[in-house]
This record gives sequence, C-alpha cells and structure tokens, in this order.
Amino acid sequence: MNLTNQQNPVISAVIPAYNESQGLKEAITKIAEILEACEKNWEIVIVDDGSSDQTYQQICQLSNNEPRIKGLALSRNFGKEAAMLAGLEQAKGEAVIILDSDLQHPPSLIPEMIEKWHSGAQIVHAVKRSRKDDSAGKKAAAFCINQLISSLGGININNSSDFKLLDREIVDIIVHRLPERERFFRGLTSWLGFAEEYIYFDVATRQGDESKWSFWSLLELAITALTSFTSLPLRIVTFLGFATLILGFFVAGDTILSLIKGQAVSGFATIIISLLLIGSFIMISLGIIGEYIAKIYEEVKARPHYLVKASVGIKDKNPE
Ligand code: UDP
Ligand code: MG
Repeated sequence: MNLTNQQNPVISAVIPAYNESQGLKEAITKIAEILEACEKNWEIVIVDDGSSDQTYQQICQLSNNEPRIKGLALSRNFGKEAAMLAGLEQAKGEAVIILDSDLQHPPSLIPEMIEKWHSGAQIVHAVKRSRKDDSAGKKAAAFCINQLISSLGGININNSSDFKLLDREIVDIIVHRLPERERFFRGLTSWLGFAEEYIYFDVATRQGDESKWSFWSLLELAITALTSFTSLPLRIVTFLGFATLILGFFVAGDTILSLIKGQAVSGFATIIISLLLIGSFIMISLGIIGEYIAKIYEEVKARPHYLVKASVGIKDKNPE
C-alpha cells in the first residue's frame, strides 16, 4: 500500500497525547489528510504519555490501518516535554512538525509551514494570536510568566507555542547536543538561533475534555523555564544582601550616635520589622538557591527523560 515506506519520510509529525482518546482519531485523520496533500512521504509519530484511557489502543488501531502512523507508549506520565522529546528522537523526517493532539494547533497551517521550510527557514514558530478558551486568570498568568522569562532570560517566548516545524539539523541538535534533563522546549528553540520564521494562529477551542495542565504543572513549567534560562534570580539575592548590609550600616551608625548622645536606644517595633523583613529575604533566597540546587541534582542524577513500554509501527523503539 505504501511504496515510500522503505526510505526515510520527508515530513514527520510528532504528537504528544495524554488521555486524549475522545478526540484523537479525528485529530490524527485530519492531520494525515493535510500531510497527504502536501507530501506523500510522511509519517506521524504519536507519543502516548502514560495515558490511563484508551489512547494507546486507538493509536494501535490507527497504525494498523495506516503504516505511516507510528506510536510510542511511555511507561508513565512523564510530561509533555518528555513526550515531545521521545517523538523527536523517533522521527525520521527531513522536517519535523510538533503539534498537540487536541486540534488546538490547527493542522491547516502545516502547508504554510512546509512552504516556509522549503524557502529556507529551519525553524518555523507558530505564534498564538489569541486564546479564546483560557480563563482571564490563565491568560494573565501566562502573560506574566512569558514577560518574566523574556526579560530575564533574554529570549522572546511571548505567545509562542510548542507548535513548530524543525529542520532535521535542528532536531539533531536538540536530540544529540542538548543533554539537559529539564527542558523548556519553547525557550530552547528560540535560544538556538538559526533561520527562523513566524506564522500566526488563533487557538481553536479544545477538542474533547478540558486542558491536561493543572495549576501546579503550569507553575512547575514556569519555574523550569526560568531556571533553565537565567541565573538572574541568584544575582538578585546577592544584590538584596548588599542592600540590607548598607541599611544595616546606617541603622548601626544611628544607634551608635544615639548611644554617644546618651539617649536610650528605642525602637522595639523597628527591630521586629527588620527581623521579619530580613528573615523573609533569607528564606526566599534559600528557596531560590534551592531551586537551582534541585536542578543541578536532577541533571547530576542523569536519569533518562522517559521510558518506553510499548511501540507500534516502529522497528527500533530505542534509537541510537
Ligand atoms: N500532554 C502530554 N502530557 C501531559 C500533558 C499534556 O503529552 O502530561 C499533551 C496533550 O495530550 C496535548 C498537549 O500536550 O496534546 C497539550 O495539552 P493541553 O491541550 O492539555 O494543554 P493546553 O492546550 O492547555 O496548553
Ligand atoms: Mg490544548
């Protein structure tokens, strides 16, 4: 049925899926249709990120009907970043497109992305124009986090998404030359440089049930993003330390002066306030330093990013 299966595909689509059985089939069918219209020699790599529903069974069905659809099942939920990496390691295409399995990343943009790639772009970022679905709180939080990372980390990730096309050269760099454990894919691709292009899209309403991100997983992502790209928080701690030291000198001078003048040293409230302030500075600083130490610890342990428990349509499920 598929004559081109022998050689490497030209376009790979990598799709992480976590408990997506509700809308997966529809999404994959649509993506496959669009790929087919652009390039006969395509593959789709769906990574089941430890779903507890029928996601993997559906991937198997899809793969049995169409050998160009391949599936990987991770042994548990490792998170979207790990799932994307698993897919990137597996993808064989000359260009790899990463997109969500809930049709929120409109597959109709794929032809435009491929066109930009043909005309020389090595990374094509799809940038969100709006997020109708998100609550005001999530929008505000996303805006603050993006601003913070952009200004502190020196990379622009405003409204960026994980929806991207990457040239083979970029995929190889991400897979082989960026060994860090904790990744923030969106930031990494901006950090790389290379010939970039941007296209804009409106985030569609989510297919299936609600978003898979909880408040805590988003917070974790934000901390990873920040600690991956900047050590400025650590420097702020040092500055705060110096600022308190200077303040301390002033207060000490004032106290000595009062003593010389023979006035009783008063100011119980001042002592309490400065104790509380300095105490909280110290605790926050320790927390910030702790975040970085935790990151070092994660890197030093050098555990694999993910473990694969099953695969379908793939000969060698552990590449390299
Ligand atoms: N996802 C994943 N692992 C997770 C959480 C999410 O692979 O632990 C996948 C999910 O199946 C979807 C994509 O990541 O394809 C984006 O997730 P979601 O739509 O829940 O996030 P949002 O659209 O709110 O960013
Ligand atoms: Mg989504």
